[in-house]
Amino acid sequence: MRLSIFPRVTLAHLPTPLEFLPRLTEYLGGPDIYVKRDDCTGLATGGNKTRKLEFSMGEALQQGADTVITVGAIQSNHVRQTAAAACKLGLKCEVLLENRISEPSEIYKTSGNVFLNRIFGAALTEYPGGTDFDAAMEKVAQQVLDGGGSPYIIPGGASNPVGALGYVNCAIELLQQFSEQKLKIDTIVTATGSAGTHAGLAVGLRGSDSDLPILGFGVNAPADVQEERVYDLAVETANMLGVADCVEREDIVADCNYIGSGYGEPTDSMNEAVVMLARLEGLLFDPVYSGKALAGMIDYVRQGRFTKGQKIVFLHTGGSAGLFAYADTLQL
Ligand SMILES: *Cc1c(COP(=O)(O)O)cnc(C)c1O
Repeated sequence: MRLSIFPRVTLAHLPTPLEFLPRLTEYLGGPDIYVKRDDCTGLATGGNKTRKLEFSMGEALQQGADTVITVGAIQSNHVRQTAAAACKLGLKCEVLLENRISEPSEIYKTSGNVFLNRIFGAALTEYPGGTDFDAAMEKVAQQVLDGGGSPYIIPGGASNPVGALGYVNCAIELLQQFSEQKLKIDTIVTATGSAGTHAGLAVGLRGSDSDLPILGFGVNAPADVQEERVYDLAVETANMLGVADCVEREDIVADCNYIGSGYGEPTDSMNEAVVMLARLEGLLFDPVYSGKALAGMIDYVRQGRFTKGQKIVFLHTGGSAGLFAYADTLQL
């Protein structure tokens, strides 16, 4: 895999640490649990989008863009990291925000990531849920062109083959850490949403001849839809990297039973997981992605689907800034 031929800017603090969680491991009484600290990527409170943006922004600069356009849910971590990266690189940032929550509170609409986006000076426009965002972003791009600017569109979550390269790189980094720390890992667990993280990991592992299983806990779509989405993106990414056919359909596994009533809607098990990790390990997870994925992992241990003697790595994709938007809903 020739990652180095793709344009890239440095945004993330890499490698992120791989840490053992002794108190969580003891408390759950199951497998040894490790965490890959992609909450520590270093840009504006961190998170997984920073790795992807190294490649998306690399391409934007190569194409001479002066404005990036992107989309996300109101409390999108992707938007916050994109807004920060745009500042760092001297680009303008146009953001289309989608309201995906049934009854958003005032705090949800103004705190957390929204507050940070405003500090970064991103141009924020709210759109109703279900808007055709590909068309809407093209329209904004046309306006930028009409104004003499040079736009570059980053899809939601930076989940296209270019963005997924960030997680191909993460997979390579993980394999090196496993080897350095002499760890024999059984499964990597991650939250999976717009699919770039899961797809990039799959290509990075299989393209490096690792057959390590990846389990993605979904946050919005049903499992069959999510798996197809990840697989399609993995195939495109593998083709772009010149490692076509390295990922099989069976390599892509998603469990979407921990979503609750919908994307971004709190669940009791997420609530328990977020509080558990904070109080046992001093770690902050988020209510929308990593908290629900953690809830899934904890349930797998309790059900005996992950067992003592195994070693599990949980990819911490970040998002703690979003916690503030849930200050009035989380039960403490
Ligand atoms: C975006 C995001 C994810 C999901 O990653 P995808 O690449 O969109 O699947 C997981 N966790 C957090 C905190 C995120 O912001």
